[in-house]
Amino acid sequence: MTKKQSKSEVGFPQALLAPIGKFLEKEILKLNKRKEKIKKADPFSDEGRTIENSLEEDVDEQIGHFDAEIKVGFVAKQIIQLRKALTRLRLGKFGYCEECGEMIDTDRLAVKPETTRCIKCENKRNS
Ligand SMILES: [Zn+2]
Repeated sequence: MTKKQSKSEVGFPQALLAPIGKFLEKEILKLNKRKEKIKKADPFSDEGRTIENSLEEDVDEQIGHFDAEIKVGFVAKQIIQLRKALTRLRLGKFGYCEECGEMIDTDRLAVKPETTRCIKCENKRNS
């Protein structure tokens, strides 16, 4: 341990960061798989789909497609958040709020390790 650290930089113990990183990577993989699954379920991606549908079938497909798009968007957002947390972890910034730089509550991180904002900043953003 020769690395110099200022007192304010005492962050997360390294021993905790490795498993968190692994967890985040695993979650990203899982979500990617889920995204693929949703995409496959999208009626628009069905290659056997006929163009000459009845109006009702068309509506069903539209709804199915719309539904898939929303779900994919949601999963994609989660993936971005996880990647962001992983990047911050690699930069040694894990556990610090990306907005105010304060340490994020560890209870909050335990429940939601992908979080990159403290509760105060999160609330500010959502209000
Ligand atoms: Zn903050």
